[in-house]
Amino acid sequence: MFSKILNYDVFNKSKTELMKYITTFKKVHIISGNPEVLYSGLYDDSLFKGCSKDNSLIIPDGIGVVIASKIVKEPVKEKIAGIEVMDEIIKSCEKEGKGIYLLGAKQEIIDECSIKLKIKYNKLKIVGSHNGYFDMNSCEDILQDIRVSKPYAIFVAMGCPRQERFINTYMSTLPASVYMGVGGSFDVIAGKVNRAPRWMIKLGLEWLYRVSKEPWRIKRLGVIPKLLLKVIYNKYIIRKEQNIS
Ligand code: UDP
Repeated sequence: MFSKILNYDVFNKSKTELMKYITTFKKVHIISGNPEVLYSGLYDDSLFKGCSKDNSLIIPDGIGVVIASKIVKEPVKEKIAGIEVMDEIIKSCEKEGKGIYLLGAKQEIIDECSIKLKIKYNKLKIVGSHNGYFDMNSCEDILQDIRVSKPYAIFVAMGCPRQERFINTYMSTLPASVYMGVGGSFDVIAGKVNRAPRWMIKLGLEWLYRVSKEPWRIKRLGVIPKLLLKVIYNKYIIRKEQNIS
């Protein structure tokens, strides 16, 4: 069910199987395992530990991770985009009358995002929301709001590592079942940023589209080759030295 990529266990079945698997957890932290998150975790102990908890579930979100899984000869079945998993969870929350909490992004984005979600899923219960600009060491009011509103799922859109840090720090003290860092997804849902056209997503070129729209992202792309080199190094050099096939 998992591919071992640089000591991370990355879910390697289909999105449909993932959705079923999520429901088997009492509490789960879903991590969009894109190259940036996995690479950062190699140099950030707390991020790595957060990815390795018993109830952490890393999904292969990004073509770089799909390629990495092929290099280690444990290919994932498909790329699973975090925003699509978020959408599936929201869809089932609407169907089952479960509440969601939105945490992150700028206030006007979160307001617009809530409106758009209510239009798409008109029975959806958004039990609370808060923008992502607050002091994480002093946010008892937000934590209390989450405890009182008792969501089933919390989506945290504050970029990595901030969103992972929030979840790792507070998950055990909160009542929700599903915790997921969703990066810039609220901006996409609000309509501020578009997702790439379907054909680009299918070809694994979503990163190219994002860079064409937000050129400052080019700096962040360097992490894909860095991650792949690290995977190759681990697979063919370190393992050979240790005589592991
Ligand atoms: N953000 C936030 N608080 C912060 C910094 C960022 O809520 O202190 C939000 C920001 O407004 C944006 C999201 O986090 O909505 C970051 O998205 P980004 O595109 O960096 O994430 P990616 O999709 O690349 O992981």
